[in-house]
Amino acid sequence: MASIYIETFGCQMNEADSQYIADRAAAAGYTVAAAAEEANVIVLNTCTVRDNAERRAYGRMGHFKALKDADPQLRVIVTGCLAEQDRNTMQAKVPHLDGVFGTSELVQLGDTLVTWRPDFEETELSEERALVMPLGGSADCVTDAYTHLRAFVTVQRGCSYYCTFCIVPHVRGRFDHRPMPVILDEVRARIAEGAREVMLVGQTVNAYRDPATNADFGDLCRAVAALPGLERLTFISPHPKDFTEKIVADLAHIPQLNPRVHLPLQSGSDAMLRRMNRKYDMAKFRSIVDSFRRYLPDWAITTDIIVGFPGETDDDFEATLDYVKAGIFANAYSFIYSIRRGTPAANWEQVPRDVAHARFERLYAAQNDATIAYHTRKVGSTVRALIHGESKKDAAKLAAKTLDNVTLIVPKPDDYSTERYASEPWLDVEISEAHVWGCTGTVLRRASRFDDPGTPVRRPVLSLLTAAR
Ligand code: SF4
Repeated sequence: MASIYIETFGCQMNEADSQYIADRAAAAGYTVAAAAEEANVIVLNTCTVRDNAERRAYGRMGHFKALKDADPQLRVIVTGCLAEQDRNTMQAKVPHLDGVFGTSELVQLGDTLVTWRPDFEETELSEERALVMPLGGSADCVTDAYTHLRAFVTVQRGCSYYCTFCIVPHVRGRFDHRPMPVILDEVRARIAEGAREVMLVGQTVNAYRDPATNADFGDLCRAVAALPGLERLTFISPHPKDFTEKIVADLAHIPQLNPRVHLPLQSGSDAMLRRMNRKYDMAKFRSIVDSFRRYLPDWAITTDIIVGFPGETDDDFEATLDYVKAGIFANAYSFIYSIRRGTPAANWEQVPRDVAHARFERLYAAQNDATIAYHTRKVGSTVRALIHGESKKDAAKLAAKTLDNVTLIVPKPDDYSTERYASEPWLDVEISEAHVWGCTGTVLRRASRFDDPGTPVRRPVLSLLTAAR
C-alpha cells in the first residue's frame, strides 16, 4: 500500500490544508507515515511568514534529495505559501521535486496523489474528490489516539488587507469564504468522529461572510454551536478591526466557546500601525479590548507583536512596551521584523539588528512577567483540560491544554491507559505550580464529555514536587 508523509510549517491555515491533503490521501488508499524515510510520497507544506521558515523549508527539500537518491521511486511535492511565492523558480532551484502546488491548487494536488497510486483508474478521480474522510488534525498529519479530539475546520481562505509586512494576500489571494452549510456539514462530520473541540480556522477568521446570505462571523459561531453534540468551540486567527460590538455580543451567548481570543496588536504606536496598514489605531484597539472585558470578562487575550518594524523609533517601541507592561495579554508571540520579499516594508529602511534585538529582549521579559502572573493565578484551582498526549519530554507525564490554551504537564495517573484516556479525555487538574510555559499539577478526575461530572482517578505515584516539566 502507498504511504504518504506530510511535513507542515507555519500557521493553523497550513495545518488545516495538510489535514485536507491527508484526507484526500486516505480516501485514495494511502496510509500516513510517521517519518519521511517510511513514505512513498513526501509532501512539504511550506510557510513564508519569516525568512527562517523559508530557509528551513529549502533545507528540508535538500534533505529529501538524499532519500530520493536512495529510492528514485520516491516522490516529493512542495505546497504552501513558499510554493506559491516561488512557483516559477522552485523546480529549477530544486530539480528533484516531482510537483509544486500553490495554495489554491490543493484539489489538483489531491488529484495527483490519486493518479500516482499504482492501481489508479481514470474514473476514480471524481469519486475520490467527493470521498474525503476526515482524519483529525495534527501538524504532521500523523494521527495518534488523541488527534481526533481536536478538529480544524477551514471557514475562509486568503486575506484582502495587505498589511505592509505580510506576504499572505500575495500568496493566498483575497478573501474566499466557504458557504456556511458546507462548514456546518464538516463540523457535523468531525463531531461524529469524536472531536471534542472544533477550531474554526481562517486567515482573518472574524471577517467571515457567508457568500449566499452575508451572515457574519457571530452568526456562523452561533450556527456551529447549535449543532448537536458540539462540546467546545474556538477560532483562529481574528483581526482586531473585524470585531464589531454585534459579533462580540454574539460570542457572549455561546457557552461552548473556549474563553480566549487572539488579538494581534503588532505595535502599540499609532504611527507604526499606520505604516503597517493595520486599519486600526490604539484607541480602536483599546475599545475592542474594553468590549471583550465588558461582554466576556474572564477571557484570556493573547497577541502577536512585531519588534523593529521599519521606521520604529525608541518612542514607538516604548509605547508598545508600556501597553504590554499593563498586563493585558495572557501571552504574546513576539518576533523581530523579518524582511518578506514582495511586500512594501521590504524596501523601507530597516532598524539596525542590534537595536531590534535589544528591544525584543526587553519586550520578551515584560511579557514573561505578565504570562507567569497569569499562570500563577491558576495555582490552587482545579481546571478542566483536554488531553494532548504524552509529554514530549517525559513519557511518565501527560500534556493537556486548558480552555484558555495553557499547557499543563501532569504525572500519569495510576489507572492510565491510552484507550481509557482517549475515550475519557477531559482531565480535572489541580494546579500546583506556575511556569512561563504553563503549569504543573495533578489529575483528580477524568470525564468522557465536557459536561460530565467525571470519575476520580487513582492518584499518580509521582509526587507533585517532582512534577516539573
Ligand atoms: S490581516 Fe494583515 S497580517 Fe493578517 S493575513 Fe491579512 S495581510 Fe496578513
